[in-house]
Amino acid sequence: MKKINESFDCIHCGISIPKAAKTCRNHCPNCFCSLHVDGDIPGDRSALVSCWGKMFPIEYKMLNSDYKILFQCSKCGKQHRNKRAIDDEVTKLPELIKTYHHFFQ
Ligand SMILES: [Zn+2]
Ligand SMILES: [Zn+2]
Repeated sequence: MKKINESFDCIHCGISIPKAAKTCRNHCPNCFCSLHVDGDIPGDRSALVSCWGKMFPIEYKMLNSDYKILFQCSKCGKQHRNKRAIDDEVTKLPELIKTYHHFFQ
């Protein structure tokens, strides 16, 4: 099984994403795109239950002075909440959410 906390190239914007310290990164710090790989069990990344659609942020809110980001899969529509990673470009998030809006019309 593929290890999840390793460097990889973003499937959307193409930047090389370094390993995140301490946390298991699952989205790109630059464009916030990720692949829908989780099953119903948190942390279960079995390929059998994964849809591999692209997930994009659709909204966010502040909770305890941290960002909670709501992602939605552009293929199956499943929604998923996640905290920001420490090096995420959160200042870009409101603008990015607008640009991703068309995936969910
Ligand atoms: Zn990216
Ligand atoms: Zn999906």
